Amino acid sequence: MTGNFKGVIFDIDGILEFQGKVYPGAIELIDRLRAKGLVIRILSNSTLKSREYCAEKLVKMGFSIFKEEVITASYATARYLKRLNPKSCWVMLKGKGFTEFQDFIHDDENPAYIVVGDYREEFNFQNLNKALKLLLAGSKLVVMIPEKVDHSLGEVELTVGAYGKMLEDAAGVKATYIGKPSQYIFDVTLRSMGVERRRVLMVGDRVATDIMGAKRAGINSVLVKTGEFKESDLSGDIQPDFVVKSLKEIEGILQVSLREI
Ligand SMILES: [Mg+2]
Repeated sequence: MTGNFKGVIFDIDGILEFQGKVYPGAIELIDRLRAKGLVIRILSNSTLKSREYCAEKLVKMGFSIFKEEVITASYATARYLKRLNPKSCWVMLKGKGFTEFQDFIHDDENPAYIVVGDYREEFNFQNLNKALKLLLAGSKLVVMIPEKVDHSLGEVELTVGAYGKMLEDAAGVKATYIGKPSQYIFDVTLRSMGVERRRVLMVGDRVATDIMGAKRAGINSVLVKTGEFKESDLSGDIQPDFVVKSLKEIEGILQVSLREI
C-alpha cells in the first residue's frame, strides 16, 4: 500500500538529476512507485526539450519513463496556443522543443503571437527589437517560463523569463506565462493523470516554481533540499507541505495520512 497518494509529479533538474548526474536511488524510486500503481508525471520548465526528447534523455540515464508521462514547458505552451488557434506565431525557441510547434504557421513579420522560449544566441538586438516593434503593433506575447536565471548547465545564465519581462516592460504589454508556477501547466499535468488533486504529490527543489505552482493548483508538495535549494527559500510566505533532505524520504511521505486541503 502507498497511503492515500495515488500520483506523484517529479521535477527533473535538482530532483531526479542535477547537471547530468542522476541522484542515487532516483531510478529505483520511480520503478517502485510505478510497480505500486502510482501515476507518475515528470514536469519540467525546460523549453529546449520536447516531451519526446526529454523522455529519451531520461531513458538514456536509466529511467523507465514514457513520453506521455513528460510535460515540458514547450509542450504545454504549444497546447495552450493550439487552443487559441492563432493565424500565425513567431516562436523564439531553439532546440528540440521547437518540434512541439511544427503544426503552426510560422511568421516573424506579422505574427498574431510572439512566443518566447530559450532562443539562446538569437536573443540579439535585432530580434529583440523586432519583437518590441511587433508587440507595439499588436502582436500578443506568450512567455514559456517566468524564471529569469538558470543554473542547470553549471553556471548562472540569463533565461527565458528575463527576456519576456524585458519585452513586457518595454512594450507596455502583459504576457501570458505557461511554465511552473503557472496554473495552466499544472492543469495540463493533472488532467493527464486522472487522479483526484488531493491524492497528488508534487516533488520539487524550488519554492518559486514547484511549490508555489503546487499551492496554486491545490495539491500537496514536498520540497527536497537538493539541486537549486537554498535555506533562504524557506523564509518566504510560500511553504511546502513537507521538507526532506533527499529523495530517499519520499516513500515515507507517501505513507502519511492525507491531510485535508
Ligand atoms: Mg528543479
